[in-house]
Amino acid sequence: MRLVFASNNAHKLAEVRAMMPAGVEVLSLKEIGFEQEIDETGATLEENSAIKAHAVAAFISSQPSEVSHQIDGVFADDTGLEIDALDGRPGVYTARWYKQHTDRCADRIQTATLTDEREIFAANRAKALRELKGKADRGCQFRTVISLLKPSAISHQMSEIQVEGVVRGRIAEEEYGEGGFGYDPIFIPEGYDKTFGELPAEVKNHISHRARAIEELVKVL
Ligand code: IMP
Repeated sequence: MRLVFASNNAHKLAEVRAMMPAGVEVLSLKEIGFEQEIDETGATLEENSAIKAHAVAAFISSQPSEVSHQIDGVFADDTGLEIDALDGRPGVYTARWYKQHTDRCADRIQTATLTDEREIFAANRAKALRELKGKADRGCQFRTVISLLKPSAISHQMSEIQVEGVVRGRIAEEEYGEGGFGYDPIFIPEGYDKTFGELPAEVKNHISHRARAIEELVKVL
């Protein structure tokens, strides 16, 4: 089975490929020649993952049939960090949370739009640590929603299925470890006393929000 994963994020592709059972080949957007920017204009993780999956499915349908017929489906994910003490924020704004200013003085040095991925991740983590400074309740969760689009054998229409994966945890007091990406150095999953940045990749790939969503996805393939 050949599925397109609507992402070019090397970290996510490596994680997802490691999680898929044998016999499922995962292609990136680059590998199918998809170069458009997708505007993630949805108000929820559910909407954004569906927007991405539909954009890529439309591209595949526009390709010659010898190309499109080799693809069995498209899936897209959208992940949010949902912090209890912040009523679920940053949620759908997780990727560029650093841009949302609550404390103008502290954030002044970050008013420029960052382009380097590592700088964006670092600015986001700094924002999380600032927002939770002095707060006892550091509970949070990562939630991933995956939208899968598959051509239906009966109607030849696309059928859409959404699945979800959640990992509960807490935000550390400071950064620990350099593994993973994004908020990993400050996220301590429930049942552990180390961050995703410190834990081996195999542990993260076993218990993460994305691993749990992929587990659900595999059930419906
Ligand atoms: P996306 O929807 O998967 O692109 O995720 C949005 C943002 O959530 C990313 O830009 C990261 O900052 C963060 N994120 C997603 N997955 C992870 C993860 O596994 N660890 C840490 N941060 C993540």
